[in-house]
This record gives sequence, structure tokens and C-alpha cells, in this order.
Amino acid sequence: MHIDNSDDSIDYGQVRYLLGAAELHQLPEDEGIEVAFAGRSNAGKSSALNKLTGQRNLARTSKTPGRTQLINIFTINDEKRLVDLPGYGFAKVSKSVKNNWEKTLSDYLQTRECLKALVILMDIRHPCKDMDVAMIRWALAAGLSVMVLLSKSDKVKQSERAKSLKAVKNKLAPYVGPESELLVSPFSSLKGEGVSVLRNFLGNIYQ
Ligand code: GDP
Repeated sequence: MHIDNSDDSIDYGQVRYLLGAAELHQLPEDEGIEVAFAGRSNAGKSSALNKLTGQRNLARTSKTPGRTQLINIFTINDEKRLVDLPGYGFAKVSKSVKNNWEKTLSDYLQTRECLKALVILMDIRHPCKDMDVAMIRWALAAGLSVMVLLSKSDKVKQSERAKSLKAVKNKLAPYVGPESELLVSPFSSLKGEGVSVLRNFLGNIYQ
């Protein structure tokens, strides 16, 4: 995929919460284009969605009790949606809740035709946990475009940032095939680092 500066084609101020789905049949018609955001709980996914859209409370809707286990759908317009997947790695849910959620998530990832790209948030200080790597590996193998955001980059020094970026790229390199694409960027919802890179990525997917 060629990356150009197409980030101004989308009006993120228009993004609205549509619904939260516990099961796949509750999702909107499988048409148009969806980009899903995923990450461990606390990785900074809600902050990133709020920063991206310039709406301070947008992703709070997905944190409302009862909605944290749902696939939360946000519309940009009739054909373009952002999807907030439930945070993984939460220790406190029961095994049956966890198994059920993992099934819904994997069904979504494996069957959703309009899903074109995945944005994975990983805390720059603790990247590439097993579930992160599993998600990225799977998505690349499935032919999705993947952008990894190393979140909370403001919390580490510049030298550490560069080191982490390199280590993550090296770790994931074996999974990037000739047909797949993986972008990795530091990201800070606090300072705005990486936001334009994310917008460019999304602009190209939604074209
Ligand atoms: P989520 O569980 O993945 O949605 O994570 P949140 O967006 O709720 O963030 C978890 C915690 O990390 C919150 O206390 C945020 O304020 C903090 N956080 C998120 N992004 C950043 C960032 O870019 N920089 C810093 N310093 N803190 C952040």
C-alpha cells in the first residue's frame, strides 16, 4: 500500500457511537469498511480513539459498565466505521466470560468481510505480549493491514523510544509476508505523537 497524505479526507468530528454488539448478528450489515482497534486493557486504546477523533468523551461510551465486553461500533459515515474491540489481558473476569469473549472476538476477526485493517495499541514500556503477537500474526496472515501504535511514548526518553521501536519491528518482522504490511509508530495521546501517522494510515484504508 502506498502511503500518501490523505489524512484530511475524513472528518473525525463526525464520528458517533452506534452500538455495542455482544454477538455478531447484532453488528451492522457486513459492508463498507471497518478498521478495528485492539489492545490489552489499559494500553491506551480509549485515549487514542478520543485523540484521533478530537472528542474527549467518545470512547468513554465503550467504557460504560456493561459495554467493556462488547464490540463497540462507531460510524464515520454510512460506509466507514471504527471498531473498538474489548481490551484483552484482563485478569479479573471469569473463565467462561473470557472464553465467550474470545470466541466472539475470533469470530468477528475471522468472518467480518468489511474488516480491512487492525490498529494494535501496545504500551511502549511493555510491548509484544503473547496476545498482541498472536493478534498481529493472525491479522498479517489474513491479509489485513496492520498498524502498531507504541502507546504512552511520552513516558520514555527519546533513546528508549527508538530502541523499543526497533525491537518491536525486529520481533514482528518474521510475520510480515510479501503481501502484507506492518507499520509501527510511537504514539502519545498526551503529546499527539503519531496521530498524523495514524490518520494517514486510516486515510489510505478508507479510500
Ligand atoms: P484502555 O483501557 O486501553 O482504553 O486505556 P485508556 O485509554 O483508558 O488509558 C489507560 C491509562 O493510561 C489512563 O490512565 C490514561 O490516562 C493513560 N494514558 C493513555 N494514553 C496515554 C498517553 O499517551 N500518555 C500517558 N502519559 N498516559 C496515557
